[in-house]
Amino acid sequence: MRSRTFLLDASLDPRAFAAEVVRAGGDPKPLEEHGRVVAMTAVLDDESTARLERAPGVARVLSAPTPWPKIARRGPGARLVEITVGGAQKDRIVVGDDRPVIIAGPCAVESLEQLEACAKAIAGCGGRLLRGGAYKPRTSPYSFAGHGLTALRLLRQVADRHRMGVVTEVLDPRDVEAVALHADVLQIGARTMSDFALLRAVASVDKPVLLKRSPSATLDDWLHAAEHLANAGARQILLWERGVRGFDDAARNLVDIAAVPLLRMRTDLPVLVDPSHGVGVRRAVLPMAAAAIAAGADGVMVECHPDPGVSRSDGPQALLLSSLPRLFAQVEAIAQAVRPGLDAAAE
Ligand code: PEP
Ligand code: MN
Repeated sequence: MRSRTFLLDASLDPRAFAAEVVRAGGDPKPLEEHGRVVAMTAVLDDESTARLERAPGVARVLSAPTPWPKIARRGPGARLVEITVGGAQKDRIVVGDDRPVIIAGPCAVESLEQLEACAKAIAGCGGRLLRGGAYKPRTSPYSFAGHGLTALRLLRQVADRHRMGVVTEVLDPRDVEAVALHADVLQIGARTMSDFALLRAVASVDKPVLLKRSPSATLDDWLHAAEHLANAGARQILLWERGVRGFDDAARNLVDIAAVPLLRMRTDLPVLVDPSHGVGVRRAVLPMAAAAIAAGADGVMVECHPDPGVSRSDGPQALLLSSLPRLFAQVEAIAQAVRPGLDAAAE
């Protein structure tokens, strides 16, 4: 299986050709120029490619060998992910266009009051995605590991009140069903990036998946993990840089900003950055969020807390709620400066 790009003549009916590609087992992605479909990309085997290549109106076929054919970069315009959020209301949020998304919330859901205060502040800034941990992976087995199902219910209830979507981590394949029932986006954490049984379980529910990078994963390891998700049926995958292990403990991790443009060259998957776990120091979170957006990230995730001093996890990196307006304004302003034309310029 490889990613193939069929260059099409004006004489060819793109809809009929797309139907042929689907019959051959591919998921065709049209590329348009001035309103006309000029090419179509799909992952196909050699036999189907040879047959389609002979179709009248196909000018040429380009084939790029790639170890991750299902998530490989196909070209401009192919990298949008739509997230459907909300209980009854079903709003859509697009990730990958010129407006970066901001995902925010507490590290762990601790109480209704704590979550409500965060959601109110985030929604007040225009934030649409509320993130909070219900099942927390912790280094020590004696640390607070989240309120589980109770936290999932609180997330749904509070997010619905503010017309937001829920993003939360799933750690165990046995919890996938319950998490998918309450959340709009399922997070795979850094520690479980290569837990292939978990990836398969998450891919089996039709929800967007945020795949964090393990602190020791190369881009190649990370993209292979994303390909596992895609191969198991996940249709909406987002990558999430959260810092790799550095040599200096001044920062919790080393945020790999270079990963953002390097991933954009390799894959169509949107790329987000988590400066909170990346740097681990409250005062450095806004500057690193700015750097991520300036580098072309499709969004950022930050942790916040109404009273970080009493947070049960990750207090030192939690933003004060009063910092959120600045974060939102800064992301918007930087995106306006760098996003338009970014894809074309990168070609
Ligand atoms: C988190 O997002 O709360 C978390 C635990 O992060 P990571 O998996 O990146 O360590
Ligand atoms: Mn955290």
